[in-house]
Amino acid sequence: MPIHILSDQLASQIAAGEVVERPASVVKELVENALDAGASTINVDIREGGQALIQIADDGSGIPAGELETAFQRHATSKLTTAEDLAAIHTLGFRGEALAAIAAVSQLTAVTRTDQEEAGSRLVLDAGKTQSCDAVGAPRGTVIAVENLFYNLPARRKFLKSITTERRLIDEFVTRYAIAYPHVRFRLVHDGRVTFQSSGNGNLRDVLLAVYGADIAKELLEIESQKVETRPQEADEGHSTAAVYRSAIKVSGFIGPPNLHRSNRNQIMLYVNGRWVKDNSLTYAIIQAYHTLLPTGRYPLAVIFLQMPFDQVDVNVHPAKTEVRFRNGNGAFSAVQRAVRRTLVEGSPVRNIGFAAGSGSPTPGYGGWSGTLNQEAFARHDLPAPQGNLHLSWPEQSVEGATAPQVELAGESNAKKELPIMRVVGQVGAAYIIAEGPDGIFLIDQHAAHERILYEQFMAARERNEIASQGLVTGETVQLPPDQAALLEEHLEMLGNLGFQVEPFGPNTFVVRAVPALLSKLDPAAGLRAVVEDLESGNDPLKEREEARIILRVCKTAAVKAGQSLAAAEMEAMIQQLERCQNPHTCPHGRPTLIHLSASTLAKQFGRT
Ligand code: ADP
Ligand code: MG
Repeated sequence: MPIHILSDQLASQIAAGEVVERPASVVKELVENALDAGASTINVDIREGGQALIQIADDGSGIPAGELETAFQRHATSKLTTAEDLAAIHTLGFRGEALAAIAAVSQLTAVTRTDQEEAGSRLVLDAGKTQSCDAVGAPRGTVIAVENLFYNLPARRKFLKSITTERRLIDEFVTRYAIAYPHVRFRLVHDGRVTFQSSGNGNLRDVLLAVYGADIAKELLEIESQKVETRPQEADEGHSTAAVYRSAIKVSGFIGPPNLHRSNRNQIMLYVNGRWVKDNSLTYAIIQAYHTLLPTGRYPLAVIFLQMPFDQVDVNVHPAKTEVRFRNGNGAFSAVQRAVRRTLVEGSPVRNIGFAAGSGSPTPGYGGWSGTLNQEAFARHDLPAPQGNLHLSWPEQSVEGATAPQVELAGESNAKKELPIMRVVGQVGAAYIIAEGPDGIFLIDQHAAHERILYEQFMAARERNEIASQGLVTGETVQLPPDQAALLEEHLEMLGNLGFQVEPFGPNTFVVRAVPALLSKLDPAAGLRAVVEDLESGNDPLKEREEARIILRVCKTAAVKAGQSLAAAEMEAMIQQLERCQNPHTCPHGRPTLIHLSASTLAKQFGRT
């Protein structure tokens, strides 16, 4: 279909609003155009987080010379003519606004050639005004170079986030599309450095490997794609024949096993007919499917594709085209939930992931503990889990929003700070220490108490500038998704001050050379990943608070877990150290470290008074 200007009437039916908010939205629109043009290779070149240059080159259909200038007018599109088309959109774009909107706020050059033409054409625009339009030699496809975005809107330019933030957003957008289009070869370059590329071989697992790294990609469980027939909603019936509305929703993709949980929802990705979408309801369907398998406050990793007839989903909801409305929302919800649940049940060797009955472990839910199998056990599919393999996944619970300053307040408000001298009696459920004091019994949460101890020791060491760091004999390499890699790179110095010696080591890859001494006995890669996640979920502008969060994470990771049995000497040492703490009553997140049953409470309970 040639590019033409939409009628006013049709244009008015399209969700109005701005499409070019920031560099990342330019990248998104241009990549969508390349995909709509059937490209099999897309190269994205960014300079200074997109503020200096955004260049997208594709080998798609190209734009005929005679239509090139039209393409840059408002409401010019080749993807839509009638109102009926709007009801069944099958392309990523349809608004006909992106090129015009981008050109209006930048200096733009487009070079393009179709298969049918011998010569290509080159159009140069400045703030939307044509500067030149010539014939040039060009390969088939289209290159759009956007320079100096918002140069003519200084107020707007001022409000752009930092270059690193924009880079991260761009990384996020590009990897999202690479995941949705494994047949397309993507390459993303920031300031001359390749930060992401996919092979375009059509294998989704390979793209996920490029995004998440081998450690995670190999764990992912594939959803057996299955058609879920859903009945039409009541309200739809009068509208058309039942056959038309009988929607077949196909769900496919990959999900993480329960042990790969995250502290935020960022790693739940949803696509509808090849479009990345935000959808709270479907996200919830996925989280629900993991119900009881994940610790409280933790979220799974999932890449889910829904395929359904184009007329079953309305994408004309919001100008960014990332929100959709389903004709049959309940059908979509249950299709996703069932597909995820089935995959989890089939992919997981243990039906009941949690504490084996009678193991004397604490009730799941209290304090957010959840027993999960370790990764090796998970990989050995058909083995029943022996007791010894149960471990408590380490970020048991993230008290979201709890920052160190608030936390300390919680501790300080505790009137009775000093702990009496205690005598250890024993351990219960491999989680609590029982001790006797001058006035009754103390039940001590070994994990919370240890976290408190390590936290105060760490803070004291930091005060003295003496944080102990433990070098690793062989550096451990860690690959991260590009957005997390960018985030880590921003924080290398801060992490260095806290005892992590991490160096960039190729695209999105880092080598860990040293970790805080507290973590020396643990998996350095896992520790680093957790720290990066904390940075991600926090997005805190205050450096001190980010630091505080990392310190909390390090202490939590290093602390003894519930489920670990302790020798008498270990318990005694722990109690003595707790007695020396300034705020012994709470862990650094504000949860209690101990419960006191006073002699009088005991007497009352036993009816002695
Ligand atoms: P929309 O994508 O909503 O149609 P755009 O303003 O993004 O609107 O693009 C206008 C038109 O320009 C498209 O409909 C398409 O015909 C053409 N076009 C834009 N980018 C490309 C490209 N990379 N390859 C081929 N054609 C393109
Ligand atoms: Mg478009």
